[in-house]
Amino acid sequence: MFIKRKGDGVNVGTENDLGGNSTYEHVFRENNTGIWEWNISKNEMFVSDSIKDLAIGKSGNFCSMTEFISQLSYEEDIVLAQKDLTDFLNGYVPFYQSTFRIKTESDEIKWVLLKGNFATNREDGSRCLSGILLEVLEIKLLERYDGLTLLPNRKYFFKKINNLIRENIRKDKKGALIYIDLDNFNSINANWGNFVGDVVLRLFTQTLTELLGDEAELARLGGDEFIVIVPEFSDIKEIEDICKKIHIKLHNPFDILDAQIDISVSMGVVVFPDDSFDADELIKFCDFAIYKSKHKGKNMCTFFNKQMSDSYYRENLIKLELKNSIINNELDIFYQPQYDALSNKIEGVESLLRWNSSKLGSVSPVEFIPIAEKSGFIVQIGHWVLKRVLKNAGLWIERGYNFNKLCINVSPVQLRRKEFTEDLLGICKEYHIPPSIIEIEITESTLLENTNDKASKLNELKKNGISIAIDDFGTGYSSLQYLIELPINTLKIDKSIIDNICCYKNKAVVESIVSLSKPLKYKIITEGVESKEQVEMLTDLGCNVIQGYYFSKPLSESMIERLFQKVN
Ligand code: C2E
Ligand code: CA
Ligand code: CA
Repeated sequence: MFIKRKGDGVNVGTENDLGGNSTYEHVFRENNTGIWEWNISKNEMFVSDSIKDLAIGKSGNFCSMTEFISQLSYEEDIVLAQKDLTDFLNGYVPFYQSTFRIKTESDEIKWVLLKGNFATNREDGSRCLSGILLEVLEIKLLERYDGLTLLPNRKYFFKKINNLIRENIRKDKKGALIYIDLDNFNSINANWGNFVGDVVLRLFTQTLTELLGDEAELARLGGDEFIVIVPEFSDIKEIEDICKKIHIKLHNPFDILDAQIDISVSMGVVVFPDDSFDADELIKFCDFAIYKSKHKGKNMCTFFNKQMSDSYYRENLIKLELKNSIINNELDIFYQPQYDALSNKIEGVESLLRWNSSKLGSVSPVEFIPIAEKSGFIVQIGHWVLKRVLKNAGLWIERGYNFNKLCINVSPVQLRRKEFTEDLLGICKEYHIPPSIIEIEITESTLLENTNDKASKLNELKKNGISIAIDDFGTGYSSLQYLIELPINTLKIDKSIIDNICCYKNKAVVESIVSLSKPLKYKIITEGVESKEQVEMLTDLGCNVIQGYYFSKPLSESMIERLFQKVN
């Protein structure tokens, strides 16, 4: 039997009004299930007895879905439950679905799922919204809520944010996402155990939920990552204030089991739909902003700006275009001579990679090499460089040009591979190059990674007659230990030290590198030398091998040939 109410009056209808069958009623009741129908045209609401018995009571009085939800839903969930309905009625979602809590007649809190869609009444053609109500057991809930904090989970967050983006575009409003990452959460877990870690997450949730009140909603995206959804704001200062309040609130440590645990957070903020219309992209942008916060020393809040995504898109484009650079013949090598300043003779040449992309134009190796290293493509590029440089060098030797060293930059990613030495020696053989003219240049930071591994790799190269130069010497966190442990031949003093060689401090640094090199029998090359004064000061200090614009810029293959021909 269904109770049908119209305005204040109560009409008793039969199950047939809903096309139902009375035998279903006990099935409904036993399973905490029911059916409902809102006749929108007539403003009438039909609800199966089982629903009334479950939560509303026989005296419930409603003639629309909105009124039904108000009486059915647990107080704290009414706003969300009504929003699910208006989202559907406004056409933001294809069917009506809402999960919220109810307080049963016996004062228990239960979760229910309402599902439905528009229908047409078979008898009079009036417009209806009809559907079912189901009790949702905990397992179902976990689909939307995080089991530890009971906050909305990632899946629910995405659903919600997608709706909000659409709504804000329509209303021409702005909303914000504040992505929060707990600083050093891993060390809390490691030092205090996972139990305390869990308590921290719960307390954090409680603290923030209280702080945010109705202004915003908190969701947990996983691990120690949370997100605050601010559906609407009119002045960005409101968002800054929320971030400030969060930082201030977390100033006091959490008291857990007699211990005091300090919590700090890094935050990244995006504004929607201004920064993006796409939920995934918004999260990615939050990531960029958080990365900045962490980079600047944690416990900070950074607002996303377009520059952050520009550099991301440029990096992706470079990664994509670089893949075709070899096949499309876009790579080239320039050579910069290294002069002996006393004799004015070419001592060696350094090969420098050039990329003239058909899409991006000329891209500096300073920009594309780190990207190639990250994507692993540097291995193919590095191989291409070795082949091209050694092939050219073979021709120079054949033509009798005079040079002692051929210096090649090698990336740590390349060097790490066990085939590296074998590859290099193979190419030497192919082009009849004595390995002894080859000097590979590696940066200081490369050496610090894992000295044991490096020592055996470099010794293997040395055994085959190849020399090793430390590039950009003086810029890394110099550890003198590696000078003792590794078979190094040359130190290339970095341009940043040479730039201010007139300054007494820089001069003292060069002097001490020179005196350190003498007993260790290191050769010194100074790079980035641009003026006559610098050359004079450096030769006075005993640094004779000089590379830089003062003598020559990097030259194309044909230009270096011409130079060789001229000096020969
Ligand atoms: P690097 O090995 O330190 O190379 C020296 C850089 O300084 C070169 O920049 C060179 O053109 C520039 N340079 C030389 N003399 C002067 C000078 O007097 N003044 C100024 N302002 N600059 C000078 P480039 O060619 O843009 O190369 C940049 C970096 O890219 C190189 O730094 C090296 O780390 C990397 N790189 C270049 N080619 C390769 C390569 O084939 N493989 C790898 N792994 N890295 C490479
Ligand atoms: Ca170099
Ligand atoms: Ca360098």
